Amino acid sequence: MAFFSGVVDRLLGRQQPLPQDITFRDERSFVAQKHSCPSCHAHLEAGELENNLYVCPKCGHHYRINPAERIRTLVDPGSFQEFSQEIQSVNAIGFPGYEGKLSEAKAATGQGEAVTNGTATIDGRKVVLSIMNFKFMGGSMGSVAGEKLTRALLTGLEKQLPVVVFTTSGGMRMQEGIFSLMQMAKASAAIAQLELARIPFFAVLTDPTYGGVTASFAMLGDVIIAEPGASIGFAGPRVIESTIRQKLPEGFQKSEFQLEKGFVDTIVPRTALRKTLAFLIDTHPNR
Ligand SMILES: [Zn+2]
Repeated sequence: MAFFSGVVDRLLGRQQPLPQDITFRDERSFVAQKHSCPSCHAHLEAGELENNLYVCPKCGHHYRINPAERIRTLVDPGSFQEFSQEIQSVNAIGFPGYEGKLSEAKAATGQGEAVTNGTATIDGRKVVLSIMNFKFMGGSMGSVAGEKLTRALLTGLEKQLPVVVFTTSGGMRMQEGIFSLMQMAKASAAIAQLELARIPFFAVLTDPTYGGVTASFAMLGDVIIAEPGASIGFAGPRVIESTIRQKLPEGFQKSEFQLEKGFVDTIVPRTALRKTLAFLIDTHPNR
């Protein structure tokens, strides 16, 4: 019921905040101010996180990273070529204040939308990448984010290249009502075309991945990888707890929990991601 009332709220354009437990935690500014990890409180030297792919060298906590950092830590230097950056969101349903939110997100991230596309090589293997950014309006998927993701998938189809998508999202973008929800079907249809053409699609779920993103393309990967400790689910734990009125188990919705329950295929630390993706590309040739 919570799901359907949420959909009705969105269709009517009613404001519905993200569950508190999946809002953006600014861990990086905590590290900058206190020089310690917010997870284990170990002292961190300047530059230590950056040199360790934004993973705490003491406890293994994986910090959220933006698309530029993902590219820098994953692909062969100089190989990334962005595409589809020209398409821009518009306020199609006249949602109050949407233009302002978009401008704020663009200023905060230096990017045009919540999804960044490009082709690149990973240890010499060509791939199409589509990378979400949680800092851009909670990684919410509106028409442009959905269109960019779909174009990445179709570029893989056209160029016969494997597609790797990095998800992080609170769900669909309520400011675009039904146009936002349509993106789930559009992206899923593009993945079905890749499947027919036997082109591999790998989903890498990062912290946090929620809502319609989980309910569509994030769960359609030929291999579904998760980063350690990422929160992955449909509705947030507080919403579920208040709906079923039961205490949720320890570690609920974390990658490790979702691996045990069969929602993800493997958990790969960021430090092993390049090697793992190269291995998966080699072992999933286009047929
Ligand atoms: Zn730590």
